[in-house]
Amino acid sequence: MRLVRFTLDHSLPATAPDSSPQVKYGVLQDDTVWETGWFWQQSTGAAWPLKEVRLLPPCWPSKIVCVGRNYHEHAKELGNPVLAEPLIFLKPPSALSAHADPILYPRLATRVDYEGELGVVIGRRARHVSVEEAAQYILGYTCVNDVTARDLQKKDGQWTRAKGFDTFCPVGPWIVPAGELRAQQLSLRTWVNGEKRQEASTAEMIFPVAQIIAYITAVMTLEPGDLICTGTPAGVGPLEPGAVVRVEIEGIGVLENPVRSEPPPRYTSTSDV
Ligand code: ZN
Repeated sequence: MRLVRFTLDHSLPATAPDSSPQVKYGVLQDDTVWETGWFWQQSTGAAWPLKEVRLLPPCWPSKIVCVGRNYHEHAKELGNPVLAEPLIFLKPPSALSAHADPILYPRLATRVDYEGELGVVIGRRARHVSVEEAAQYILGYTCVNDVTARDLQKKDGQWTRAKGFDTFCPVGPWIVPAGELRAQQLSLRTWVNGEKRQEASTAEMIFPVAQIIAYITAVMTLEPGDLICTGTPAGVGPLEPGAVVRVEIEGIGVLENPVRSEPPPRYTSTSDV
């Protein structure tokens, strides 16, 4: 089953919140999107051909929690030690981007990398969850690209700027329910302009999903729709404007985004917002 969030308004930004009346939830079957209530409650009976809808990020997270260096080979390629416990950081929800939407290459950065990752979407409020109970809190899985300005990550010493640009969190195109996948046995591949750059199995994660959820929820409450990015395998590398990047996860699908140069700023006053 493929759980989607969508709109009939093709100009609606990927960051449109659930409170927007144009945002709908649905289930994709073949080429038809069947509308449901919020968070995939029962069907409304309405349906649209897939080609007539705009797919949005499949969840609307209050926060995006990411894990750094969760694959041995990736830690090694960046010259970092393997960690004894997960290293977590946040991406802002303003970085969300939809399948097929452009990743905007910021004028402030000189090296922007892809990071293909398995995304975990939370289904129920979770606080102080044990490793054994963690599976009960997972709604499902999706593809994520944890786009990173590597130059700024090194320069700043912490990662808010490097990981936080608008469009730096493409996610989707849909969520596959947890019960339909073996999350720690999926192959993950990232392609740039048709060339394979990353290939690994989620079995190679240093900290598996259940352990990550236990670690995060010892610190903060996870809400339904929150997104966890579980770390990227080896093979990260730069993107250039004009490139097309695809994150493919077995049993889920393909998240594809073109890269474009950020347009010149249009300085707006807060009254325009
Ligand atoms: Zn990452």
